[in-house]
Amino acid sequence: MEILTTIKETRDKVKEWKAQGLKVALVPTMGYLHEGHRSLIDRAHKENDKVVVSIFVNPMQFGPNEDLDAYPRDLDRDAAICEAGGVDIIFHPSVEEMYGPDFQSYADMHVLPEKLCGASRPVHFRGVQTVVSKLFHIIPAQRAYFGQKDAQQLAIIRRMVIDMDFDIEIIGCPIIREDDGLAKSSRNTYLSEEERKQAVILNQSLNKGMEAIEAGEKDAAKIKQIITDNLNTCPLAKIDYVEVVSFDTIQPIEKVEGAVLIAIAVYIGTTRLIDNRIIL
Ligand code: AMP
Repeated sequence: MEILTTIKETRDKVKEWKAQGLKVALVPTMGYLHEGHRSLIDRAHKENDKVVVSIFVNPMQFGPNEDLDAYPRDLDRDAAICEAGGVDIIFHPSVEEMYGPDFQSYADMHVLPEKLCGASRPVHFRGVQTVVSKLFHIIPAQRAYFGQKDAQQLAIIRRMVIDMDFDIEIIGCPIIREDDGLAKSSRNTYLSEEERKQAVILNQSLNKGMEAIEAGEKDAAKIKQIITDNLNTCPLAKIDYVEVVSFDTIQPIEKVEGAVLIAIAVYIGTTRLIDNRIIL
């Protein structure tokens, strides 16, 4: 495995592989890897000849009061996880390599980023789209792997690929969880012992919503209320949003039918966690 830091050597290597007829996969990450990332790497490894993992904490997707500086980083540990997963290249550029001094271009979108995380993090998805566009140009892979943990991000990337004619297949992968159901996240490391215990409320509340749906409930407002009431039983939880939206448009719906995304964002103490259920 090689760790490459420049755009040129990374692009040259991927082009060389493709000239040999090899299938190349890209797994974009911000590092501090866990089993969720590992599941994307494993699937990419199984379905392709070569795997590139990008590790880049992208400043453009963090708002002014967000956790850019505090975001956990450990390249040595990440490299060991990638090596064990059969990764061929880690692309680990500096901020200067990705955003030159005169940088002034963005990738953006109208409808899909408006609600959910886009409402509470106004510049977030513009930053995500911009960096993912750049990664798709730098690493012209045939497939890219994304987690359903970031369901709105997945919907936006799929839309962007269609709208902008990127020649890449987007593969969505299921959410990997801790034994008690908490979705794995690099941000879970911010939680104190007590917060970590209470953080299971996200998954538990989504389960309550799903139980209601399985029992025949179709009214989105009622499902939102069940999830909200359950979250409010947790002393350390402060709700950012609880939404029931169409998975295609990421706009609120009244009835649960077709492709539906139930998404929540909740502060446990000062740490903002997200989780969801996708009903297809
Ligand atoms: P991040 O490093 O948080 O930007 O995540 C990189 C990729 O890993 C994204 O596509 C995430 O959706 C995915 N991912 C993060 N956590 C999980 C998880 N618990 N299960 C599955 N995929 C995940």
